[in-house]
Amino acid sequence: MSRTAEYEVVVVGGGIAGSFAAATAAAEGAEVVQLERKPRERAGHIACGDAIKSPRDPKKYPGPIDMEAICADEDVLADGEIDQIEWWDRELDERTVLPYADHSNVIDRYQFGQHLLDQVDEQGADQHYDTVVQDTVQNGQVSGIEATRDGEPVSYEAEVVVDTAGAQSILQDMVAFDGLSAVEEVTFEKPHYTHFGSAYREIIETEEPVDFANAIVGKPLEQLGYVWYFPRTPTTINAGLGFQMSEQPIPLADRLGQDMNAEPALPDAQVAERFGTTNKLGSSIALRRPLDSMVAPGYLAAGGAAATTHPLSGKGIRGAAISGYSAGAHAAKAVHAGDTSEASLWGHNHYLFAQHGEAGKLASRDAYNVAASSQSINVLRAVAAMLPQDEIKSMVGTESKIESLADVVSVAVGAARNFAGHYHSGSFDHLGVSNRDLLDVFQGVWTARGYVDRYDTHYGAYPSTRAGFFRWRDDRDSLDETYYDDLGLDDADRKY
Ligand SMILES: Cc1cc2nc3c(=O)[nH]c(=O)nc-3n(C[C@H](O)[C@H](O)[C@H](O)COP(=O)(O)OP(=O)(O)OC[C@H]3O[C@@H](n4cnc5c(N)ncnc54)[C@H](O)[C@@H]3O)c2cc1C
Repeated sequence: MSRTAEYEVVVVGGGIAGSFAAATAAAEGAEVVQLERKPRERAGHIACGDAIKSPRDPKKYPGPIDMEAICADEDVLADGEIDQIEWWDRELDERTVLPYADHSNVIDRYQFGQHLLDQVDEQGADQHYDTVVQDTVQNGQVSGIEATRDGEPVSYEAEVVVDTAGAQSILQDMVAFDGLSAVEEVTFEKPHYTHFGSAYREIIETEEPVDFANAIVGKPLEQLGYVWYFPRTPTTINAGLGFQMSEQPIPLADRLGQDMNAEPALPDAQVAERFGTTNKLGSSIALRRPLDSMVAPGYLAAGGAAATTHPLSGKGIRGAAISGYSAGAHAAKAVHAGDTSEASLWGHNHYLFAQHGEAGKLASRDAYNVAASSQSINVLRAVAAMLPQDEIKSMVGTESKIESLADVVSVAVGAARNFAGHYHSGSFDHLGVSNRDLLDVFQGVWTARGYVDRYDTHYGAYPSTRAGFFRWRDDRDSLDETYYDDLGLDDADRKY
């Protein structure tokens, strides 16, 4: 016989989005429980590259979580030691260096996660560890969770369930979204598996300090992925790799081992230990734009579960935090209003796409990912090798990003100069990359740039109420089609 627990808000997940959601909803006066399948001492030990920018900026980490206090703990390693990105292509003998205008960090994700969970507790939310969610309950709206806690069945009744169970959230397979009641269809967008990637990381230690301790390093990988080496300290490195699920799978651990063995910058690397075993973790990652709608009756999604995260640009942690905050705030607001319908939860979508705007930015910049995904990895390697380093360095050294027309022209001129050099020497022939391929890429980037602006405007006008959603989505779908046509994409390459 299962026990029953009643809460206003049930948050599934003890990661970043779940902690921001639970702390915020509790701070707003809701009765909250946070459910996490891992035991307390292992919670927050999550697969991640651990790169995080601007952790002390309250606009990027809104709500009651005190990031300043977390970063003040030296064990978290939010020390701002990273000041450049490097792209190593050993085969092409290229080492591209892009400096950051401000500093970045490679943190100890476990220490960070443990602090987050402490702060959820301080805000007054209950936390149930060793609690595995097995099913959802619905009666016109999502109304609860069935779980196993310490091996015993428990039913959680809820006015709102917040899904922060990560990318490819299991809850999205459990909820029958078309069985929920709504005028017209339920707006929640269920993502497709090809929109995800699979990623894996190890924490490795070297005897001697590495000579790239101030840089996060990427290297090309077959199947549209990359290998990374992100130093937490000069002798402790987060090493990992990932690929997109639309491509052929790669045996991740073996492929990483192969790269490390051949990498001269890591002569004596050993895998570190945590909890008495080697520190190796893998997980899915969302490689798509944020879901068109992240709400359903009695249900809100945030973080990886809502694809408000973009790990490739180091916005996986930040996107989870902002959307977790929003989910917690809007869940509490709906509970206080006594209305947890889709229309009442709508503010979550509107906040993320238009008001705060982080999700709108991620969605519009996804146009670049669409353009890049239609190219082979060898073409992209050739393009990276042509980036004009001197121009980029001098700009990034003074500005926070390359935005002005003068900057773009300067990069384009530098790239064209490098292109002319490679054109005459035929230096990419052995990659099977022709000059025509390269011209196509530059054209594609130019086309994508124009569409990023158009998507930006469209997402900025995301409807403030549910009533405007279907019209807005139809217009966005038309924009997708025009974009794909302009890029000349085959049906198979049309991402959404
Ligand atoms: C290998 C890898 C490298 C990455 N590198 C970076 C990077 O360098 N920088 C960056 O910003 N982002 C990076 N990301 C992305 C970033 O880690 C995610 O965006 C972020 O962790 C998402 O947070 P979340 O809270 O939504 O989900 P998660 O962190 O995945 O948390 C989900 C939580 O839910 C729990 N859970 C899941 N299912 C259940 C269940 N059935 N019952 C109970 N609990 C459950 C899990 O145990 C977990 O604690 C990376 C991701 C991966 C996989």
